[in-house]
Amino acid sequence: DSLKIEERFKELIEKNDLKDEAKVVKTGCFGLCEAGPIVIVYPEGAFYSQLKVEDVDTIVSEHLVKGRIVTDLLYKESYQEGEMQSINDVGFYKKQERVALGNCGVINPEVIEEYIAYDGYEALGRVLSDMKPEEVIQLLKDSGLRGRGGGGFPAGLKWDFTAKAEGDQKYVACNADEGDPGAFMDRSVLEGDPHVVIEAMAIAGYAVGADKGYVYVRAEYPIAVNRLQIAIDQAKEMGLLGENIFGTDFSFDMEIRLGAGAFVCGEETALIKSIEGKRGMPVPRPPFPAVKGIFDKPTLLNNVETYANIPQIILRGPEWFASIGTEKSKGTKVFALGGKINNTGLLEIPMGTTLREAIYDVGGGIPGGKEFKAVQTGGPSGGCIPAAHIDTPIDYDNLIELGSMMGSGGMIVMDEDNCMVDIARFFLDFTVEESCGKCTPCRDGTKRMLEMLDKIAEGKGTPADLDKLKTLAKTIKNASLCGLGQTAPNPVLSTLDYFMDEYEAHVHDKR
Ligand code: SF4
Repeated sequence: DSLKIEERFKELIEKNDLKDEAKVVKTGCFGLCEAGPIVIVYPEGAFYSQLKVEDVDTIVSEHLVKGRIVTDLLYKESYQEGEMQSINDVGFYKKQERVALGNCGVINPEVIEEYIAYDGYEALGRVLSDMKPEEVIQLLKDSGLRGRGGGGFPAGLKWDFTAKAEGDQKYVACNADEGDPGAFMDRSVLEGDPHVVIEAMAIAGYAVGADKGYVYVRAEYPIAVNRLQIAIDQAKEMGLLGENIFGTDFSFDMEIRLGAGAFVCGEETALIKSIEGKRGMPVPRPPFPAVKGIFDKPTLLNNVETYANIPQIILRGPEWFASIGTEKSKGTKVFALGGKINNTGLLEIPMGTTLREAIYDVGGGIPGGKEFKAVQTGGPSGGCIPAAHIDTPIDYDNLIELGSMMGSGGMIVMDEDNCMVDIARFFLDFTVEESCGKCTPCRDGTKRMLEMLDKIAEGKGTPADLDKLKTLAKTIKNASLCGLGQTAPNPVLSTLDYFMDEYEAHVHDKR
């Protein structure tokens, strides 16, 4: 519908001879999926939501021609007590702090000049003209940025390891193989602000001594791939990629590699194999990619959101970044909020925001006034956090302490109607499907777990099965080769910990 809406606006602007007064700018995602398709008309900032193609006629004839805002079509919270509110005052955006998503929904991602107008490539220019590579790395360390792809490893340290690794050739890679069900953080950045990733990767190349970058992005994201390619071509054309960038002796080029949709290729060693053109299967670490990565050369691998923070950290300084968040988790985090929640969408909140604030203030609470039961964070391998912990500030360590994890930022809300045994089965079913089969604990163990869960759910289980399930889950966590297997049992373990009564009800009631 958005494309049809765009077309209709263009048609009517032409027809009404408004070409000198009005221009249609295509942007990336605004984050508030629930309210889409969204159109914002400036200078008033009128936030029109859930538009249909026929609404465009009304907006053009009333707003653009007569200067009258069509209040009936405004997003419900953006028009209150007869007054139009700023977009930043509506509940969904009020507690957000958009750094990685700063340009998404603001600029046209296919026009490099718009990125440049919002300080784009200034950080790269500053780094190349004023800073030594080791100063860039120190700045990153001072900021406290941790990798946003899952593990939360300190980004500055990873850059340092790669810079110090021996190698005649080094690479910088970006993990954009977003495979978690319901997650679309990377996609949104690549679709809405692809230049930020290019700029950050060039900065990383300078800092670690690499002249070549790869973005590994899943083929199921055609718009992201297309816009990224457009952005790479534009950057090359303007001399911002390629030989002697900004007239310095630093050269950096990059290319896209497409993933074929295997979840395991998000694991860094499997991703590297896939970039090399081999089957995407994890290999044991060490050696880590910083020492032996793509084509056995030292490789810096970060994910899209990690890179999306870099230019702003350079421009605003590490102290600014470190002032946001909690003691050990600095900055903001992007989450894909879904499940039983009113404001489905993409949000970026400061670390330390509580789960309650994310779910009720930003997310708008549970539909139908139902009771909140649990939230699953961290994608299919995350754990389910019950209502008793809803006031927990979100950061890497708190989520791990609760048996879950940050992961790349999935946040799925469950209400009183959800059966937690079914939820655990759903996620385990996904990881069973996606196991690459290389190691026995994950390949066979997760299948056996799923069989046990099926048996329990069908009312054929016994209390002893619950103990066996727990023991097997812990064994798989300890004995699997890569992160997929090591975390796959999390949804089962966390629901066994927090919702044992529901498992017992299945065991007792249905026998
Ligand atoms: Fe493959 Fe699973 Fe073993 Fe990872 S843990 S290597 S996904 S079988």
